[in-house]
Amino acid sequence: MKNNLTSCLYCYTKNELIAERCSNCGMPLAKDHPENYKNKTSFFVKAFWGITLFCIAMIYYLPR
Ligand SMILES: [Zn+2]
Repeated sequence: MKNNLTSCLYCYTKNELIAERCSNCGMPLAKDHPENYKNKTSFFVKAFWGITLFCIAMIYYLPR
């Protein structure tokens, strides 16, 4: 299956996803796991809540 392979960023050699380093040039392989998307999503959720709390604070602190 193609999904079990990842391309090296430096020499474009196909490596298995479980490999941490390229079998051809030895450079570390980029992790393209779904967990990375989870981390990005949680970062945006945190940013969203931070902005929301900031807006609520501003509603109460700003003079009307
Ligand atoms: Zn390589």
